[in-house]
Amino acid sequence: MPVVVSIAGSDCSGGAGIQADIKTCSALGVYCPTAVTAVTAQNPRGVKAAEYVGDRMMRLQLRAIFDSITPDAVKIGMLPCADAVRVIYDTAAEYDLKNIVIDPVLSATSGGSLSGETETTSDAAKKLLFPLAVLVTPNIPELFRLSGADTGSDISAASMSLISDCSVKNLLVKGGHIEGCICTDTLYRQGMTPATFSSPRIATTHTHGTGCTLSSAIACGLANGHDLISAIKNAKEFLERALRRGKEKPVFPSDGPLLHRQSD
Ligand code: PLP
Repeated sequence: MPVVVSIAGSDCSGGAGIQADIKTCSALGVYCPTAVTAVTAQNPRGVKAAEYVGDRMMRLQLRAIFDSITPDAVKIGMLPCADAVRVIYDTAAEYDLKNIVIDPVLSATSGGSLSGETETTSDAAKKLLFPLAVLVTPNIPELFRLSGADTGSDISAASMSLISDCSVKNLLVKGGHIEGCICTDTLYRQGMTPATFSSPRIATTHTHGTGCTLSSAIACGLANGHDLISAIKNAKEFLERALRRGKEKPVFPSDGPLLHRQSD
């Protein structure tokens, strides 16, 4: 069975983070060991608290996983502080981890920072982890924050500057924040024409866990030996079905999770 290791935060409301990654991997027939970076206390109204598990616990979880299993891909989500970044970086080097997909989570959709001192954490992630990743998947606000570009400036220029500043191999900029009935994500690579992936916009407030689901579904595709373009295409289709289901059978009155199912 393919294995995707998720290194991410726990979301006690069950919609995003580690919980979204496990549901995605299970629905796609992939085994998902998890190293929890932070525990969050949250619900659709907001994040009440987020706490880093600490260097020791971070390191011990990663050791326990990678001493016993060689993953086919790794998904990295919430990075609560620069120390967590450094522990993950050391581990990635020690175990020579491959097929790393980074979802650079900065804050929850409901509000509330998930990356501690955002600039320090982002700087460490950009310097140490981005060059190791096969793919980084920011949404548009994350792209502007990470690249230092002004909000509303040219997306393509911001993407290319992030790629060259941080040696990013592939950058998938998610277009969900652009208005319109079609959502287009764009894959930027150095020296290549951008590739676009479009899907119909699902009109719903139940989008909690969208970024986590997409990045872990892409990691599942890579773990199954698919090329990056096919992995992204399939992951978008998976996400669309989970969004439709979350809209049809809401768990919370609003701002609830997507719903993954085995048949996906
Ligand atoms: N990871 C954790 C632990 C979270 O709590 C959240 C959002 O609340 C995210 C990641 C990002 O969620 P999304 O996939 O909705 O961007």
